[in-house]
Amino acid sequence: MMEMEKQFSVAVDGPSGAGKSTLAKAVAREMGILYVDTGAIYRSIGYYVYQQNIDPKDAPAVIAVLPEVHIEMHYGDDGLQHMVLNGEDVTTQIRLPEISLYASAVSAIPEVRAFLLQMQRDLAKTHSVIMDGRDIGTVVLPDADVKIFLTAKAEVRALRRMKELEERGTPRPYEEVLREIQERDWADSHRAAAPLRQAEDAILVDTSTLDFDESLARLLAVIREGVDA
Ligand code: C5P
Repeated sequence: MMEMEKQFSVAVDGPSGAGKSTLAKAVAREMGILYVDTGAIYRSIGYYVYQQNIDPKDAPAVIAVLPEVHIEMHYGDDGLQHMVLNGEDVTTQIRLPEISLYASAVSAIPEVRAFLLQMQRDLAKTHSVIMDGRDIGTVVLPDADVKIFLTAKAEVRALRRMKELEERGTPRPYEEVLREIQERDWADSHRAAAPLRQAEDAILVDTSTLDFDESLARLLAVIREGVDA
């Protein structure tokens, strides 16, 4: 474990399925810092909207229920980020495939993003963090010590996602998974509010041809160089 005296922050952005969460989690463990999965926060709102039978694209209806939403994050000894929505642990439920689309839809609403901004910034104020999402380097932590834009070809991301779904016992056909990834890519990068884009000072890491260990080594090298600088 690498000990650092100075507090620092690492922003990791990129499209869904690029391996952000798995890699960021491994980096956090290796460096002894906190991993913050911001997608899980959007998913928790998406899950609430789904539970309430609200159309996630109906912005006024989503905004109207925001005051009812209380989100807490707990970090267990297992190193996992548990999401607690109005007192209920929803860590597992927010991973359901239909919740991905709900999360993507509610995240396009500026009021939803504003509602979550401070919560994310506060975590980086009090801890050394590696935070992953879509707008961490551009909006949430514009002064992050290291910014990484992690990506991979859509076809490669679809294959990885298929493997993950298979392992979870919920297999789905390649064409369907690829289409969903392309839909989310398009929605995330074309929305008006904080679209997914590489920050000017972010380092591009493309994992299309890298396996997990190679990707992790590359990230750690980039981060250590950036933090020491
Ligand atoms: O990363 P994950 O797939 O869990 O994120 C779910 C959805 O939440 C994404 O498709 C994206 O629309 C949204 N999101 C976002 N900003 C973030 C993190 C996630 O808009 N910082």
